[in-house]
Order: sequence, then structure tokens, then C-alpha cells
Amino acid sequence: MLDVCLAGTSGMVPLKDRWLTTLYASSDGHAVLIDSGEGTQVALAAAGCHVKRIDAICITHYHLDHIGGIAGLLLAMGNAGRTEPVDIIGPPGLVEVLKGLLIIAVPPFDVTCYQVVGSDEVICRAGKIEIRAFSADHVVPCLGYTLTLPRKPKFDPEKALENDIPIEAWSLLQKGDSVKIGDRIVDPSLVLGEERKGLKLLYSTDTRPTDTIVEMGKGADLMILEGEYGTTDKIDRAIKWGHMTFPEAAELAKRSGAKELWLTHFSQSMPDPEEYLENAAAIFPNTVIGYDGIRKTLAFED
Ligand SMILES: [Zn+2]
Ligand SMILES: [Zn+2]
Repeated sequence: MLDVCLAGTSGMVPLKDRWLTTLYASSDGHAVLIDSGEGTQVALAAAGCHVKRIDAICITHYHLDHIGGIAGLLLAMGNAGRTEPVDIIGPPGLVEVLKGLLIIAVPPFDVTCYQVVGSDEVICRAGKIEIRAFSADHVVPCLGYTLTLPRKPKFDPEKALENDIPIEAWSLLQKGDSVKIGDRIVDPSLVLGEERKGLKLLYSTDTRPTDTIVEMGKGADLMILEGEYGTTDKIDRAIKWGHMTFPEAAELAKRSGAKELWLTHFSQSMPDPEEYLENAAAIFPNTVIGYDGIRKTLAFED
């Protein structure tokens, strides 16, 4: 299961009733945070997200509304008792940005930086959550992310019996460990069934629509995309500043075959983004207007 919480949903500036966009996803006590603008530690506390569990922080780009809160967040994690190392991922420039911030905030844990340009490789993991990044299309270098939780194939007792595997060895093989039986080493693949679909979440904000988002979002259980502007008449601004409108985000979700779309990163010119829901839902019906603290548990299909 992957627990997802969008703790903030504002774009550019934090508002009195809306923190900056930030995503907290956790599984089995391990969490990933995507983006950390001003006040993110407050947004996470308000949403009941445990900062001590954050193993990896993914930054989309170095605009203040996505990185400005990271110094405070690292200290908040330390204050919460975090001592295990933390991975920080971002586009090129990360080391330079963090060099200054780590002077004013010295967390009681090691930080490993991953400067990436976007590829299909797993960059690192938080527990079993796999983190991948891809290039977005903003006015500065920007990344989108996918978080995936793979699912082990089902154990097949018939195969185990056919291969004379004693019942005592079943649970180890089921967990994915090899087992020595007599003088043979049994690989778990011998007794496992077909591959099973895992869980996938895609997060991309501060970007124009791209084919890469569609490609990376294929089979996503949840897509979280920016909805800086509710209406198509803001398209010129969206193009100029490297953002999207609600209909553009909905089109991406539709093309990728995602199950559900959450919109976030709303312009302060939209006090109530819900008013514009229909502009997205007409294209992709399962669209939800994000709000601070919205959460959902993604579960494996059965
Ligand atoms: Zn932004
Ligand atoms: Zn930006």
C-alpha cells in the first residue's frame, strides 16, 4: 500500500489557507517528500505527516516555492529524532543550492545529493518505494517524478509441490529468498507465478504538457499535476511562464490512461479552484481538485 498526502496545494506563494505544493508518500514506515517550499514543515505537521520517516526529498526545481523550506524541514526532521541518512534529489545545481542552506541548517544526519537530468533508471529507494525522475518543460531545468511500489509475484504452491520443495521452505521463497535444500539451491523464481502490477504515482508540477509525462504516467494509479490556471483563456500566460491549464493537465491524464488525477499548484488568482473543476472533468472525469491535507491509500489490485 502507498499512502499519499498532498499537504500543500498553492503555487508561487503560500496563502493564509493554502500552503505551497508538497507531496508526502509513505509505505511501511518509509516516506518520500516531493518539493519543500516555504512553510512545508508546517503544512506537513498540519496534515499529520511524520517528518522523521522521510528517507528521500525530491526537488522539482530551484524556484523558491519548491525549495525555500528545505532548511527548516531538515531541522524539523532532526528535531523529530531523525538520525538515519537522507537522500536529496534534484536537477543539476543541487549541490550549489544545498551548500549554502546546509550552513544555516545543520541536520544531525548525513545528506546524499543526487543531481539528475531524468532517465528511466531508479535513482534511489525509500524502503520499497522506487524513485525515478524525468525532464519537465519549465522556464528553468525541472524534473517530474514517479514513485512506484513493485509487487512480488504470487507464490504458486503447485509449482512448489511439483519441484519437491518442503513446506518449511515456502515462506522464505515467498519472501524472495533463495533456499538450500539438500545440495541444491532453489531460486524463488521456480515457485513464483506471473508478474503482478505494482502501484504507480506520477507527480509533475511547473511544466508545460509533454509527451514524456504521458509516457511516464502510463498505468499510473494516481497522477498529480499542476493546475496553475483554471481556464484556457490563460494559455498565453501558461506558455510564457512554463505552466499548464486545467484542460491541458486533464488531457495528459486521459492520454496516459491514469486512474485518477489530482490538480495542485494553484495560482493565487484562483481563491476557489473548485469553481473550474468542470474544465478538467469534461476531459478526464476522475479529476479531483487538490486541497491541503487531501490523502488517499493506493492499494494493490486483487
Ligand atoms: Zn512553482
Ligand atoms: Zn517554477
